[in-house]
Amino acid sequence: MATLVIGAGLSGLTTALMLKKAEEDVSVISCGLGALALSDGMLGVYDSPTPLQAIQQLPSSHPYSRLSEQAITSGIDAFTSYIPLEGSLEHAVLLPTALGSLRRASFYPASYAAGICETDGEKIQSDQAPYVLVGFSGLKDFYPALAAGNLARLGLRARSVTLDLAFAGGESALNFSRQLDKGTAAEELGEQLGALAREGERIGIPAVLRKGAFERCAKAAGVPLFQIPIAPPSVVGVEWNDILVQACRDARIDIHLNARAVGARTSKGRIDALRVEIAGTTCDIPCDNVIYAAGGLESGAFERDSYGRLSEKIFDLPLYTNQDGTSVTETSHIVNPNYWADEQPIFACGLAVDEHMRVLGDGGKLAWENLYAAGSMLAGAQRAREKSGEGIALASAAAAVQSILKEGR
Ligand SMILES: Cc1cc2nc3c(=O)[nH]c(=O)nc-3n(C[C@H](O)[C@H](O)[C@H](O)COP(=O)(O)OP(=O)(O)OC[C@H]3O[C@@H](n4cnc5c(N)ncnc54)[C@H](O)[C@@H]3O)c2cc1C
Repeated sequence: MATLVIGAGLSGLTTALMLKKAEEDVSVISCGLGALALSDGMLGVYDSPTPLQAIQQLPSSHPYSRLSEQAITSGIDAFTSYIPLEGSLEHAVLLPTALGSLRRASFYPASYAAGICETDGEKIQSDQAPYVLVGFSGLKDFYPALAAGNLARLGLRARSVTLDLAFAGGESALNFSRQLDKGTAAEELGEQLGALAREGERIGIPAVLRKGAFERCAKAAGVPLFQIPIAPPSVVGVEWNDILVQACRDARIDIHLNARAVGARTSKGRIDALRVEIAGTTCDIPCDNVIYAAGGLESGAFERDSYGRLSEKIFDLPLYTNQDGTSVTETSHIVNPNYWADEQPIFACGLAVDEHMRVLGDGGKLAWENLYAAGSMLAGAQRAREKSGEGIALASAAAAVQSILKEGR
């Protein structure tokens, strides 16, 4: 069976890899990169000390209500088989941010682990290893005095140091990462960091070291070292994207870049071919199944016009703000004028799906038998507030793949 995946973000790439592993014929159609390069490396499942428990309490309007624990686990397992992470679904940990607040994460890279803030239930333990946050003079986006000051306000022992470190080529994390990959630069940084630490301290640096360079730096430092994510583009997010794209290439999955899906040829309730604009022409690519993983408003898959009307751009599907199928008719209420409010209905806009991830059209009927959706396309989640976007992306990718494999049997 030939499956076309629309989108090369977290959900699209993971879906393609899972299908290929099951020996399915799969290609990816994407007009650009996904949001992975923006990821801070703290894989968001749900913002709760006990994410799995919290997910089970969510109402039927939420996309997690359509996703089994098995789908969540197999999505995360698929991702971490390419990108090993620490953590668990049962208990989230608190990690320091670049502003000196604490953020919950279910899964995180080993290079963040020494920064975990120990808690007793919800209470921060005051007698844990003190933090020393180190900034670099030539790097933007990390101000150690601000971050350490805010950690201290939370009751943690924290101090700050700025190292005189700058590189030709710019003040960005990506430039630092490239320079610190060279020769013995990571070891030299590690020695400088090690010399700064006082008895019992752990050192936090902005996340500029890729895998390999971090381990060399930590070894040379000889004290607990951890990275703190800073503003995107994120070194960790870019590295994750590179690994998944390379894994697709290694598996001989065709990724058609600069290819925009614009429509479909359909018959008898099924999609027979996807209409794609590519290399200055439009062609129909035949398929047995389509997995629609094109993101949401941020990626341009949904659009709001100057009259305030929201639309889905390829199949003209109805959009909802929840999985119960309440249509987005009153578009004037879709933006909460209180921008700082917890709920912004527009962020929850998306497609309704059944438990097989098949897209529902008007009146809750199947749009097409072989159209599945995954990731930020799904209606009903406040992803930024809930820190749920990545968990939903992986779980829905796994659920869509399982449905396609079952159908094919
Ligand atoms: C700024 C920002 C911050 C976020 N912060 C968090 C967070 O803290 N925690 C959390 O859990 N989640 C967060 N999210 C959400 C999270 O990043 C996404 O939910 C997750 O990465 C899922 O991505 P996706 O694969 O569904 O879509 P995306 O990563 O958006 O990928 C969509 C893909 O579809 C392609 N595409 C779009 N239209 C077409 C078309 N017509 N034809 C072909 N290709 C198309 C795009 O080029 C892209 O490759 C954030 C997202 C953004 C944008």
